[in-house]
Amino acid sequence: MGSGTDMQYRHLGRSGLKVSALSLGGWVTYGGQVGDDAAFACMKAAYDAGINFFDNAEVYANGESERAMGRAIKHFGWKRSSLVISTKIYWGGDGPNDKGLSRKHIIEGTKASLARLELDYVDLIYAHRPDSLTPMHEIVRAFNWVIEKGYAFYWGTSEWSAEQISDAVRVAETLGLIPPLMEQPQYNMLHRERFEVEYKPLYAKHGLGTTIWSPLASGVLTGKYNAGVVPEGSRFDYKGSPVIQRIKESSLNTEAGKAKLRKVVALEPIAKKLDCTLAQLALAWCLVNPNVSSVITGASRLEQVTENVKALAVLPKLTSEVIAEIEAILE
Ligand code: NDP
Repeated sequence: MGSGTDMQYRHLGRSGLKVSALSLGGWVTYGGQVGDDAAFACMKAAYDAGINFFDNAEVYANGESERAMGRAIKHFGWKRSSLVISTKIYWGGDGPNDKGLSRKHIIEGTKASLARLELDYVDLIYAHRPDSLTPMHEIVRAFNWVIEKGYAFYWGTSEWSAEQISDAVRVAETLGLIPPLMEQPQYNMLHRERFEVEYKPLYAKHGLGTTIWSPLASGVLTGKYNAGVVPEGSRFDYKGSPVIQRIKESSLNTEAGKAKLRKVVALEPIAKKLDCTLAQLALAWCLVNPNVSSVITGASRLEQVTENVKALAVLPKLTSEVIAEIEAILE
């Protein structure tokens, strides 16, 4: 671990595991939008800044994101115990049993991810989406099997409803098995409802941890799209992902998207007053929420990691007055 950083570590929900308050994920970027040189540089800058948690999924760049992270971990020779690695299972391929949360796909998908990551285990494994066509007891039992075999240490969900999470906890408790520990939802200044309202009862009741995604709304909250123009080499300029092109369309060319861009413009003077960038303000705003265990950032270049980790220095500046000013813009 690098020295001299101010990284914070938070317990992942009601568990003994500590994850860095800021973490780094591979969606869109690693194994896809950027090559190994950039991916390795971002991961090294993150690690040197004290980030211990790296997020992935079997579906990212069709497995190439896991391969790129696996190569980086091997290349730098990082001690396994200094890392918290996660992956997510749901979209493994096109075959009838390559998708969803059957016992078969959870177990086969986990083993395939480990092979791509070149690791014996991941620390966290997630059900990347709910699967209403598979019985909950099958899902709960399969993730417990993965943990029993030592392929993962904790399991959780991503974008499940509060009701589905509660159901999984209930089924696990009835069976005397391990319930899901954490949820991975989208949460940022422009996307708040589920995290703040729907999940609210779960934090205290189940000790739910959270690792939140797209804290910068794919870059919108950096202000780089404020003029409605797509900078060359930015995520919205990346044609290799139909999902990104859809997000770009809704962010830049719909009335709802344009209203959000106006909010980002209105946040600029606050960032200026706090002597930070918009990206740092948006990340620090997420970190203020005590129900956030880790903010998963994304980065296509090293300078973004360097800038983003300094969000921690902005945290003390987010007084209740500043938060109220921000709220007035976001509401
Ligand atoms: P962000 O919303 O933070 O977007 C990251 C992107 O924004 C970067 O790749 C970069 O794109 C741009 N960016 C980041 N920092 C800066 C900066 N300082 N200045 C300018 N541009 C910047 O996060 P992601 O959408 O990448 O999500 C983070 C992680 O969350 C993913 O990697 C993944 O692990 C996880 N995730 C989980 C999902 C789930 O369903 N569970 C869904 C999506 C993500 P560029 O330079 O190309 O413009």
